[in-house]
Formats: sequence, C-alpha cells, structure tokens
Amino acid sequence: MPFRAGSRHVYPPTRPRCAVRQSRKSRRQRSARSLAMKGIDLNGVRHAVIVAPHSDDETIAAFHLICALRRRGARVDIVVVTDGSASHRNSASWPKPRLVAERRRETMRAMAMAGVPRDRIEFLGLPDGGLRSLDRRQIETALVGLRQRPEPDLLIVPSVFDDHPDHRVVARLCERAWPKCVKRLHYIVWPDRQNEARPSYCDLAIAGCPLRKRLVMRRYRTQTGIITDDPAGFSLMPPMLTRMCRSHEHFAS
Ligand SMILES: [Zn+2]
Repeated sequence: MPFRAGSRHVYPPTRPRCAVRQSRKSRRQRSARSLAMKGIDLNGVRHAVIVAPHSDDETIAAFHLICALRRRGARVDIVVVTDGSASHRNSASWPKPRLVAERRRETMRAMAMAGVPRDRIEFLGLPDGGLRSLDRRQIETALVGLRQRPEPDLLIVPSVFDDHPDHRVVARLCERAWPKCVKRLHYIVWPDRQNEARPSYCDLAIAGCPLRKRLVMRRYRTQTGIITDDPAGFSLMPPMLTRMCRSHEHFAS
C-alpha cells in the first residue's frame, strides 16, 4: 500500500506548528464525536464483501469487523484490487513476481487469523499505483471482477474521501459495481486532514482487540520493514501502526 504525495514518499508529511494546534483541536472534536458514534448493527448480515485496494487494507480497515462477522457465522469475501507491486519498485531481492506473491500470502495468512478461508479471497491484480490510468476495457474487467461473488447484504468499501488516489478510484468502481440498495460501510485508511475534521463523517464504530490486530499487521512483513534494499520503498512506521490498530474501527454509513 504505497502512499506517495506527488513524488514524495513520506507519510504523514511534516506539519507546521499551527497544524499541530489544529490537530489538538481535531482530537477534541474526534473524541466528542466518538461519544456520539453508534455501533454497527450486524443483525441479518449473512454475507459481506470487503474490497481492499491493496493487500493489507482489508486488515487495516476492517479486521475487527471481519472477526465479528465470522464469529456470527457470516460469509466474508475479500477482493484485493491491485497487485501491490508498487511498494518496493527498486528492490533487487524482491523483484515484482516475488513481491506480488508474498503480498498475496500475507493477506491470506492475516485473513486466516480472522477466520476467512483462502477460497473466499480474490486478487484482481490491477496495477498498483496505476488505477487512475485504467482504460475502458480494464474498468469493465475490474467491475466484472468485483461482482463475481454472489451479491452480499453488506459491502465494506473505500471512501471517496480517502487521500490515496487508488482508494478513491476503487471507491468509484464500487459505486458502479453493485446496486445502490446494497448496504455499505465506507472506510478511510489515509485520512486527509480536512475530511478527518469534518463533523460526523464517520458515524459507526466496532470494537476489537488492538493487540491482536497489531500482531496480525506485523504479519504483513513486506509492509513493515523486511525489505531493506529499496531506500524509496514503503514501510508502515510504528506511529502509523498505532493509529491503525486502535480498539475501534470507524466507518461511514
Ligand atoms: Zn491501500
């Protein structure tokens, strides 16, 4: 899940002092908002589909939710849209085929810990970092790929407000792939600070064990530091993991 702002490869970017004050204010707003946040009603959900732009988004966004669905006996299908090859483009020891194969294994291992079997996971293999350049034929193929499982009663999909371009493209594809009557939860992995501060953007939450989620996130070894021969490569730094592995996952209905 590489994130690049322009040609930069740093996330989150360094913020000026005024932004830190703003951040304190946002924290207060967020904590006030979390008091008003509702739990997710999973009654009647028998089949959910989680759409992840990159291998690891399924866990970052919805590990607690997937565990809760599986505990209730619901079927959970995962669709990973891109091949994940852009996180380390310059590694000699992890050329593209090896990286792509390992990222798939990481998702399968993590989802096994949430109770999702391998045959419930689909990898569409679209170009990581290149979704904005898809042609019409590739878009149609992607839509077919998203719809190939039976229609679910719950969709868990990226938000159009995510700061990552691939996530926004996948959000738009998901809008087209299923009828509007299918219930949806939208998630943000990379918040843009303006949207993060937007009142009531996320109105639903589900709780889970943060330590377990952190343990699972560490299984994404290619994204947490095992690749050391690509200085421009992506790695989830400890502060990011802390933010991503909190006790609650948040969604917009
Ligand atoms: Zn991602």
